[in-house]
Amino acid sequence: LFGALDRQAPDALLGLIAQYRADPRADKIDLGVGVYRDEAGATPVMRAVKAAETVLLAEQGSKSYLGPEGDTGFVDLLAAIVFGPLAGSDRIAGVQTPGGTGALRLGADLIARARPSATVWIGDPTWPNHAPIFREAGLTLASHRFLDGAGAVDFDTMLADLAAAQAGDVLLLHGCCHNPTGVDFSADQWAAIANLCAARGLIPFIDLAYQGLGDGLEADAAATHQMLAAVPDALVAYSCDKNFGLYRERVGALWVQGANAALTTLAFSNIVALARGIWSMPPDHGAAIVRTILERPAMRAEWMGELDQMRTRINALRAALAAAHPQLAAIAGQRGMFAMLPVSTADAAVMRADHGIYMAGNGRINIAGLRLDTIPAFVAGLSPHLPS
Ligand code: PMP
Repeated sequence: LFGALDRQAPDALLGLIAQYRADPRADKIDLGVGVYRDEAGATPVMRAVKAAETVLLAEQGSKSYLGPEGDTGFVDLLAAIVFGPLAGSDRIAGVQTPGGTGALRLGADLIARARPSATVWIGDPTWPNHAPIFREAGLTLASHRFLDGAGAVDFDTMLADLAAAQAGDVLLLHGCCHNPTGVDFSADQWAAIANLCAARGLIPFIDLAYQGLGDGLEADAAATHQMLAAVPDALVAYSCDKNFGLYRERVGALWVQGANAALTTLAFSNIVALARGIWSMPPDHGAAIVRTILERPAMRAEWMGELDQMRTRINALRAALAAAHPQLAAIAGQRGMFAMLPVSTADAAVMRADHGIYMAGNGRINIAGLRLDTIPAFVAGLSPHLPS
């Protein structure tokens, strides 16, 4: 059976982690892995999460099955944070999923069932897992450019590429904190994308994996609200794995917006049926933690305070990095955990060998892997490789 398979390359970032661990240099810098790090370089369990786990340990009375839609209390409380005033709409319905990845895959399977001929348009570059997720669901992919050479949006080029999109195609959008570039659309550009989708019948699929890590919970959801208000049909894949620091617990949700309540109910019934055929039910613990936090005002306030601290630290590092070299100036205006540097795979290997600086081969860095006091050493190692 298995001899017919092609050998698959291992994840390049996982190899980088192993190399970093084995590197004996005390001043090595890890900018590779995509998890938040605090000033001490740790990715600790958030205090609000620990508090919620204590409550669950004491009070959870059963581990009996929930259902394919997961923890509906979690989905409803999270919806208020994601959709604000739209949360009560009978045109929006959602389920808990195993992480943002599970949400993307479930949404992809729904699209493949509803409209197998749809092309999914993804930006270049995007999170490397986007293409496989949609491809494995059997969908056709196309890519559009959206960046200029200086770390800003080239909107005209994006519109020119999207001119080839057909009515009923899907446009995948990062709701905030673009991974890997940190380059988000302005409010005016979002308005233009919303108009484009409405006018051309494109269906936005918003990937919101970093709410609260850009400009704040509300600001980071503004583009999602704007898009949903403009179009009849939309999908939103959500991850709690970064903003609650729950990575390995795999916490996410998928919502759909339909043109009316009946169509939303129709879509929801298919989402539930698809989930049943993939994972039957999502894992409970992470979503129960998020629900426990959001149900309790004191825990919710603690979580929001911790999230504020994470965002403030990231944005302070962005400002310091941008000020450290003229070629890095655009980083101050970008948002989220990542930035993409104009560094080749070969240059990244040299920086690794000579200075113990670890970054992804595509030039992506995790800003949170820096500290104010390691920025000078990082920029010293980097600057010979930057365009003059
Ligand atoms: N979308 C984007 C843009 C991401 O960066 C990530 C995580 N790296 C995800 C989705 C998936 O998140 P999760 O770990 O919750 O599956």
